[in-house]
Amino acid sequence: GFKCGIVGLPNVGKSTLFNALTKAGIDAENFPFCTIEPNAGVVPVPDPRQDKLAAIVKPEKTIATTMEFVDIAGLVAGASKGEGLGNKFLANIRETDAIAHVVRCFDDDNVIHVANKVDPLADIEIINTELALADLDTVERVHNRQTRAAKGGDVEAKAQVALCERLLPILNEAKPVRALDYSDEELRHLKSLQLLTSKPTLYIANVSEDGFEGNPHLDALNALAATENATVVAICNKLESEIAELDDDERQEFLADLGMAEPGLDRVIRAGYELLGLHTYFTAGVKEVRAWTVKKGATAPQGAGVIHTDFEKGFIRAEVIAYDDFVSLGGEAGAKEAGKWRLEGKDYILKDGDVVHFRFNV
Ligand code: GDP
Repeated sequence: GFKCGIVGLPNVGKSTLFNALTKAGIDAENFPFCTIEPNAGVVPVPDPRQDKLAAIVKPEKTIATTMEFVDIAGLVAGASKGEGLGNKFLANIRETDAIAHVVRCFDDDNVIHVANKVDPLADIEIINTELALADLDTVERVHNRQTRAAKGGDVEAKAQVALCERLLPILNEAKPVRALDYSDEELRHLKSLQLLTSKPTLYIANVSEDGFEGNPHLDALNALAATENATVVAICNKLESEIAELDDDERQEFLADLGMAEPGLDRVIRAGYELLGLHTYFTAGVKEVRAWTVKKGATAPQGAGVIHTDFEKGFIRAEVIAYDDFVSLGGEAGAKEAGKWRLEGKDYILKDGDVVHFRFNV
């Protein structure tokens, strides 16, 4: 599965967010450094399209696709030097595919701030510095090793050295390397370095209920994110944790009272999904309508492999109907009549929303 790690300084609202995400009921305590073990939660990805498909197909059940959030707590300044839980923290981040960095943008005198002041940019700098220092270590090691190899005429090593020399000044300024643009060739080498600051990053601005507009903390965060290829989602974690406690009917009523079309969490989950470079295809049979996740650019056999590895191995063809056609033509029969039902081969690249039926040998 695809994992999004939730990071942030202590007491910014990580556990509150994570609890709302999973409704797991892990204690959010008003004490810094209280959450230590990384916790993982699998959440359904909200997608109104699956309900539209279900309204047409009338299946026995409808199943959403999922993604995983991991609550990674325990960062202290000095983590990159292996202090405290630092090493474990960095190792946990390394295992994720993307980073959701929670930043405190709410003022509340009752909630202790570790630096005694709400200042999102200063908070971000603390964490980004630790990540950049860890990366600096990695890049310096690779640079030294590949410089020697490059002297022996190794072309790949030469390219690595050139890339490292672009990265070093950025990391020396404690900036994330995702801020740079890369050629395809450089991207290939960058991937092999597995740097923490190259991971796709989303800043989650934890604002108060009335903090969505005219909030200087949020404005500052948006400006920073724009300079380093990161995105921002603003939500009120406290409100979200209350919404998550409600049953479905109460929730609809509560959201309507607040004038919200959906829980803010749905925006976070979708932003995480987007950040991971994922999209969705559907299978739509009378037994079940189901959403499946693939990396953007995945081929039909790779998509089949998400359902079962045998489907990928034995792939023959995919019967495909574009989502819009399926819905506007009232399902498979209508799409067939209108000539919108296609047979695709092994090189077909799945599109977001495709309604697919795989044919395979067993
Ligand atoms: P963590 O250490 O980052 O996991 O932070 P927690 O989720 O444990 O939150 C720390 C404290 O801040 C708790 O007392 C929460 O109730 C409180 N808190 C979290 N989000 C909000 C929020 O949006 N507004 C306010 N006022 N308090 C919050």
